[in-house]
Amino acid sequence: MKSPICPQCQNEKVIKSGVVKERQRYQCKKCKYYFTVNKIGKKIDNYYVIKALQLYIEGVSYREIERILGVSHVSVMNWVKKYKIIAPENNEYRPTYKVFNHKELIEYLKEDTNTKGAGMLITELGDKYMLIKWERFKD
Ligand SMILES: [Zn+2]
Repeated sequence: MKSPICPQCQNEKVIKSGVVKERQRYQCKKCKYYFTVNKIGKKIDNYYVIKALQLYIEGVSYREIERILGVSHVSVMNWVKKYKIIAPENNEYRPTYKVFNHKELIEYLKEDTNTKGAGMLITELGDKYMLIKWERFKD
């Protein structure tokens, strides 16, 4: 597995920064954001399999899932095949996502314009939270 991309600013330059709870931790060189991914060569926890399949159903692309979860898009494709997941056809809207730490999430949720009319979904992601919204509900 190659180095992941920063989930915060999509920068490709990340450096290893220790191992936390058996997962490799990285720091983004650009925005200094810390994030963790599964340790290389380790059997991937079902937690991530389920999370990946959830995102797949939500309409998030394989490449985006790779970027968000730090698991290869090939693995995600294999799980989709293995568990016979068929995502409903959806050409009308696509999800957008944001990654927050707990404090940022609270700040974001305080603003009621951020929480209304976007079909919001929050899911835990390592030591961060991901919030998914659907463009269809905007405006
Ligand atoms: Zn970054």
